[in-house]
Amino acid sequence: MTVRIDVVTIFPDYLAPLGISLIGKAQRDGRIELQVHDLREFTHDRHRTVDDTPYGGGAGMVMKPEPWGEALESIARQAVARGLPKTPAARRPTLIIPGPGGERFDQTIARDLAQRDHLVFACGRYEGIDERVYESAAADFDVRILSLGDYVLNGGEVATLAMTEAIARLIPGVIGNAQSLVEESHEDGLLEYPVYTKPEHWRGFSVPEVLLSGDHGRIAAWRHEQRLQRTAARRPDLLPPTAAAGAPDLDITV
Ligand code: SAM
Repeated sequence: MTVRIDVVTIFPDYLAPLGISLIGKAQRDGRIELQVHDLREFTHDRHRTVDDTPYGGGAGMVMKPEPWGEALESIARQAVARGLPKTPAARRPTLIIPGPGGERFDQTIARDLAQRDHLVFACGRYEGIDERVYESAAADFDVRILSLGDYVLNGGEVATLAMTEAIARLIPGVIGNAQSLVEESHEDGLLEYPVYTKPEHWRGFSVPEVLLSGDHGRIAAWRHEQRLQRTAARRPDLLPPTAAAGAPDLDITV
């Protein structure tokens, strides 16, 4: 299956990193088909205007609805022309509008989006996109407003890069060794255990003895314990309330 990803932005060059590393390879391997669209191609005035002052007053500019409407309609038309979704999970194309006021993007959402046939990212700038674009797009897309975190970026491009990378590595075949995905942080609610490679001793620090023992049972138990301790220390919010409160029998099935 090839996953189609469209990105609409006023800064197409910002998305250039999607052409390198694993996502670049996934495109060359035909697992992902990615197209970046310049929003200004959907304007009709000499200045290729994409923003205007806000109704009701206030600071900053708002992205105009007309170019967004045309860009998204054009992508939806192309999707229909390419034929019906190939998998039952695919449904309609999913339109992702990054924004600090959206649902917090996480690994569960990434896993869900990695099942889709067609993702479209709409990169806002300025004070954001005219609200009517969200309502109008719902005719053709499943619309999701997703936030990278509780801070404000200048535009949706960085969020699109981060989300695309998190989603793409979950698309079957994009990461060579699927087992490495299973053991990662956030896959089952715990952070990953510490990892080490050669040399065994470095600047006075040594690799924990258990990892050199060759005893797979002991190694698995040690790693599990490390995951619990690390999660409790760095991200107690990820643990069930009793565990996070420091219950002595921290027993979480992984
Ligand atoms: N006025 C908006 C607000 O307060 O919600 C912020 C607009 S921000 C300056 C411009 C654009 O950056 C947004 O439209 C969105 O595309 C993107 N953006 C900013 N922060 C983001 C975040 N935390 N997650 C995802 N996208 C974000």
